[in-house]
Amino acid sequence: MRIPIIAGNWKMHKTIKEAVEFVENIKDRVKGTDVEVVLCTPYTLLQSVKEATKGTNIKIAAQNMHWEENGAFTGEVSPLMLNEIGVDYCVIGHSERRQYFNETDETVNKKVHTALKYGIKPIICVGETLEQRENGETNTFVKSQVVKAFKDIESKKVLDIVIAYEPIWAIGTGKTATSEEANEVIYQIREVIKELYGEDIYTEIRIQYGGSVKPNNIEEIMNQEDIDGALVGGASLKSDDFVELVNF
Ligand code: 13P
Repeated sequence: MRIPIIAGNWKMHKTIKEAVEFVENIKDRVKGTDVEVVLCTPYTLLQSVKEATKGTNIKIAAQNMHWEENGAFTGEVSPLMLNEIGVDYCVIGHSERRQYFNETDETVNKKVHTALKYGIKPIICVGETLEQRENGETNTFVKSQVVKAFKDIESKKVLDIVIAYEPIWAIGTGKTATSEEANEVIYQIREVIKELYGEDIYTEIRIQYGGSVKPNNIEEIMNQEDIDGALVGGASLKSDDFVELVNF
């Protein structure tokens, strides 16, 4: 049984005040859900959101981290620091980080290794560009991203990892992959996990879809057999929308 996971990725949005108000507003309205609820917030909000979510079923995530514990890396935040706050998850390899901040398959893999070492669960993002989709390269490309992200990850740790399939052309564009298209790629990703780790892990690992998920399409997406949740950007910023997504 895979417990679905609905995560709001706030990206570079919200002040501390807004974030705490958001949590106050949603906490009683999401407590009856069977899905795992996660808020992926900017670093500056993590401590306050952690406090605001105390005693609730809402988990928190960072949106990135460095792979070293300490060092001369101006502007970076380490897993040790996130661990101290009690962060549950960390988004790793989001396409915006791959596109604008030199994130590579190699750095993603290093980050996954250190996150797991610190008990932080990685949400690994993969996904193709529009050009790759049009050239029929989606499955090959996404599969290679998955293989590289999981390099040398021991099987006993794999189920702490969530994979998010986010086609780049569907992020923030209002264009969603059809739920069948999303399910097809996610099925292929699951096949990679089967090749790498065998049947048991393959049936248990959770794979989310992300890209223009909204209250009006969440149900259809979640009804797909291989899709275990959503990583939501824009629609996670408004508390009412987020509550609807969680209680789809
Ligand atoms: P949107 O939901 O705004 O398309 O963003 C998706 C995303 O990038 C989540 O990580």
